[in-house]
Amino acid sequence: MTKASSNRSRRPRQSAVGPEHETELLLDWYAQHQRPLPWRQTKDPYAIWVSEVMLQQTQVATVIDYYQRWLERFPTVGSLARATEDDVLHAWQGLGYYSRARRLLEGARYLVREHGSELPRTPSAWLDVPGVGRYTAGAVTSIAFGAKAPVVDGNVMRVLCRLYALPGNPQKAPLAGELWRLAEALLVTGAPGDVNQALMELGATVCQPKAPKCGVCPWRARCRAHANGEPERYPELPERPKPTPLVMACALVSRGERVLLAQQAANAARWASMWLFPTVEVAGEGDALHALAHDLGERYGVPGRVLGKFGVFKHAVTRYRITLHAYAYRARGAQAPRAGARWWSPSELEKLALPAAHRRIANQWLSEAASS
Ligand code: SF4
Repeated sequence: MTKASSNRSRRPRQSAVGPEHETELLLDWYAQHQRPLPWRQTKDPYAIWVSEVMLQQTQVATVIDYYQRWLERFPTVGSLARATEDDVLHAWQGLGYYSRARRLLEGARYLVREHGSELPRTPSAWLDVPGVGRYTAGAVTSIAFGAKAPVVDGNVMRVLCRLYALPGNPQKAPLAGELWRLAEALLVTGAPGDVNQALMELGATVCQPKAPKCGVCPWRARCRAHANGEPERYPELPERPKPTPLVMACALVSRGERVLLAQQAANAARWASMWLFPTVEVAGEGDALHALAHDLGERYGVPGRVLGKFGVFKHAVTRYRITLHAYAYRARGAQAPRAGARWWSPSELEKLALPAAHRRIANQWLSEAASS
C-alpha cells in the first residue's frame, strides 16, 4: 500500500454528493483493497512507463515477472536507449504484441535525446514521445508526478459506463470523449495517481466484465447499472470478430550441432525482426512438406531431408489462432543460407528473440539435444 493511499481512511469526508464523494469512496476502498503490485512501490517515471506498456493487452500475473526482469536488465531509460533491438525483443520474448517493445526502445531513445536523464513531468511532453498516447501520458505523469491527468483504459471505460449507465459504443465519439471528461471529473480530490489506479483496480478486481461483484463495490449505492439490475449490459461494445484459424508449418533444419533460423523483415506484419525456424503458411497439414521443401530450397538455398514430425504447437497471435506443424530436417550439402537465414549453435539460440511457439520448439530441441 502506498503512503498516500494508506492516509486516505484518516482523511475527513467533505462531501456526500457528486464526483468528490464518489472519489472519496473509491480511494477509501483502494486504500484497503489494492493489490501490492511491484510498480506501485515506485515513483520512477521510467519504471511506471514500462509497467503501463507491458500491461496493455497482458494480464497482471504475467507482467510481474517480465517487469522485474526488464528492470534488472534495463534499469534506466539510458540503459534501454543503448540496448539493441535484438536485446529488447529477447527481454520481451513471450509477452506478445512485440511492437510494444520496439515502441519502448524508440521512446527511450527519443527521451534520452530530447530530455537527457530528466523525464518530462507533463502529459503534453509525453505525448511527443513516439508510441505514447493519451492513456500512457496520463498514467505516467499522474502516478510519478501527481499531474491532474485522467486515464481511460478498458477497465475505466467499463466502470464509468456502468456507474452512469451510459449507452453507446465507448470506443467512439461522443461517448469516448465523455468518458475522458468523467474520468477527469473524478480527479477532484486525492492524489490523481491514486484515483487513476483505484479506478483501474476497481475495474480489474470488482467491476469485472462478467459477473461484477456489486456486493463489495464502494459505488453500489450510486451505480445506475446496478440499480437497473443489469450491469453487464454496459459497456455496449461491438461484438469481437471470431478468431481466424491459421495453419503453418516450420522446418527445424540441423547441420551438425547447428540449427537454421531466418530473421523476419523489419516491416513484416507478424514478428517483425524476430528469428523463426523457416515457416510457411499452408492451407492444411497435407501441404506442409511440399511447401517447406520449396521454401528451404528456393528461398534459403538449404535443401533438406525430412527426418520426421517434431510436434504440433498451438498459439494465438492477435486475432489469429495458429496451429504450427514442426518437422525435423537434416540439411543436404554445405551451401551458405540466403534470405536472412543463418546457422545458430545451441548457446546462441538461447539468446535469440523468438516468438512464443518457436521458443517452445527451440527449448524442446535444446533439451532433446542435451539428453541425446
Ligand atoms: S456497483 Fe457493480 S456494476 Fe456498478 S460499478 Fe460497482 S461493480 Fe460495477
